[in-house]
Amino acid sequence: MLDDMIATCSSIGEGMEQDAVIGSTEEIEERYNGRFLEFIKLLVLVNKNEQLFPKQCRTCGTSFDSLSEYLCATIPKAHSWQDCEEVMGKPFTMMYRHCTCGNTLVLTLTEATFPRLRELWSMLRDEAEKNGRHLDEVAKEFSEQCDNYMFTHVFAGDAKLSCNHSGHVEKNK
Ligand SMILES: [Zn+2]
Repeated sequence: MLDDMIATCSSIGEGMEQDAVIGSTEEIEERYNGRFLEFIKLLVLVNKNEQLFPKQCRTCGTSFDSLSEYLCATIPKAHSWQDCEEVMGKPFTMMYRHCTCGNTLVLTLTEATFPRLRELWSMLRDEAEKNGRHLDEVAKEFSEQCDNYMFTHVFAGDAKLSCNHSGHVEKNK
């Protein structure tokens, strides 16, 4: 299972500089949309939220202890982030991912876990409108930047010890 996770992580991190685990503020600003980054950093705060994690795949039993682990060890399904506020009558976001076993996983965010959820979608809608793009496309870009940030700045740090023990650090270089 760890092998799968590392493999998934490596593919997410592909094309990114491996030594950029702790980049300078300038490097970070260049790689990410600044408006996305503000919300991505807020997501780091729910990384180990007890209402969300641990989360388990019902099909294969894989357990995810944190948001960074969840995002690194799964694959986004389409644009992944889906705003369901209209249907649910309150801020309600579903994040669709594929487990490595093939099962579809859904992580739900509400204002209880992410207070600025509505603001996040206003920002994404504004970005879409401003640039004449479809919201799904912008949501996908946000999802990708979020995955990259979590992989580079959060998960890589968390996983360092277990990676060292199994020799995967070499593989990732
Ligand atoms: Zn699974």
